[in-house]
Amino acid sequence: MRTHSKYIQFIGFVLFVTLSQPAFAKLNVLACEPEWAALVTEIGGEHVKVFSATTAMQDPHQIQARPSLIAKARRADMIACSGAGLEAGWLPVLLRKSANPKIQTGKPGHFLATDHVKLLGKVIDDPANLHAAGNPHVHFDPQRMSSIAEALKNILSKIDAENADDYQANLQNFSDSWNAAMQGWETSATKLKKRSVIVHHDSWVYLIQWLGIKQVAALEPKHGIPPSTSHLAKLLEIVEQQPVDMIIRSGYEDERPSEWLSRKSGIPVVTIPFSVENYSTPGELKRWMDGVISKLLPGVSK
Ligand SMILES: [Zn+2]
Repeated sequence: MRTHSKYIQFIGFVLFVTLSQPAFAKLNVLACEPEWAALVTEIGGEHVKVFSATTAMQDPHQIQARPSLIAKARRADMIACSGAGLEAGWLPVLLRKSANPKIQTGKPGHFLATDHVKLLGKVIDDPANLHAAGNPHVHFDPQRMSSIAEALKNILSKIDAENADDYQANLQNFSDSWNAAMQGWETSATKLKKRSVIVHHDSWVYLIQWLGIKQVAALEPKHGIPPSTSHLAKLLEIVEQQPVDMIIRSGYEDERPSEWLSRKSGIPVVTIPFSVENYSTPGELKRWMDGVISKLLPGVSK
């Protein structure tokens, strides 16, 4: 009898733990890039646990679907990625190998930022182009980031309806501080208007459009194709004919082509952090964009 009641107690305990777990469990989010992990931190707050598959020092076009990532995808309630083909080389493999129904295409747990904004730079005449579906580097436009934040709030509220009020409040807080910061960035970046830049990869179209900068050329002859000697020679001719204020590259890109052109032409190279560093800290997206703007400004100090 005693053993029996102990057994009942044990079953009761197991039931309690099992049934009560969902109320306390955090949503597991696997982000493809740190900027989306940071946005999930902002909007998801205490209800999410987020991990980014890449860092700001990795090229998000070129990642391997390694076993540790597959394990993370298997446990994820949701993915948050750029989409528009940025992760075409690795995300489909990750999704298939995870065999996780929650994060597959078409499911609420399959969140792609570029699905929620208008894209620039579609390459219609070349389906094999890295940016054929449109330029995926949308995180450099604060206005598009606002729309994506709202879409993310909607999806989180759908997956985890119980905490929808918190997601709404987090979005409000984020938007208030983000919009105020945006005004500041635009004011301090006024002198960047109409300045000319050469870029390494075509990562900056949204930033350039937002701030009214002019992109003269790219070091890559074609999206994702490394700069060649003949292409660089052509660029040197271009910069001899028209003023260019700076050469922009991200922290993960090979510095040799931009340094070569800089040495030959005297145009300064500006290295811009491609994404946030600490995606688990609220406010990090704002600090990152502060950094982006402050890196660009000295390039036009003259
Ligand atoms: Zn790209």
